[in-house]
Amino acid sequence: MAIKDNLNNILEEIEEARKHSITNEEVKLITVTKTRTIEEIEEVINCGILDIGENKVQELKDKINLLNNSAINYHMIGNLQTNKVKYIYDKVYLIQSLDRLSLLKEINKKAKTDNIFVNCLVEVNIADEEQKGGVLYSQVEQFIEDCLDYENVKIKGLMTVAPNIDDEVFLRDCFRRMFKLKEKIERKNYNEVEMKYLSMGMSGDFKIAIEEGSNMVRIGTRIFGNRN
Ligand SMILES: *Cc1c(COP(=O)(O)O)cnc(C)c1O
Repeated sequence: MAIKDNLNNILEEIEEARKHSITNEEVKLITVTKTRTIEEIEEVINCGILDIGENKVQELKDKINLLNNSAINYHMIGNLQTNKVKYIYDKVYLIQSLDRLSLLKEINKKAKTDNIFVNCLVEVNIADEEQKGGVLYSQVEQFIEDCLDYENVKIKGLMTVAPNIDDEVFLRDCFRRMFKLKEKIERKNYNEVEMKYLSMGMSGDFKIAIEEGSNMVRIGTRIFGNRN
């Protein structure tokens, strides 16, 4: 099926899930374009999609240059090495994968030099998966407090990549705990922290994620087809 048709189907499914969600909040679609060609990406841009997610610095950097379109919001969604922050910190709308102190410090340092603010989501390792990035669930509140000391990094919410399993009950519980955590942090009323985005839900699990309170989904496969 054509990308445009896939996209319209996804937008309908998002809207349907939103109606049954605990918040009824608007849901933002981030189109995940890793491994896709510029032509494929331009197809979604022509459909009005302006939020693009990439998981590798080099690929993100290349695509920013090739697309050369200042209307696009770029989202860094993958593991970010500290020594690569310099290539993207001032070019992205959101770094969604802030997950450790060394990264926080580096982003802050670069942002401070330029006198800018960099918006980030704290990535949460919701199911304590060993090989996965993200702050452990039990350590997120402390990490958010650590962020308060780094004034050029602005926390705008939480992100998670749920376990890649086919267990709806388990996934629902993961998403529910993320929503509760977001609410808990919100209630602390930190001046510098805004729990605006809860980024969770991918091709296989976005409906459940939205039902449980996600307001930002990151979808690739269901729009472009399987990656090679
Ligand atoms: C690849 C990726 C996605 C999208 O995954 P699909 O299953 O293709 O929708 C979402 N989030 C992150 C962090 C990713 O790396």
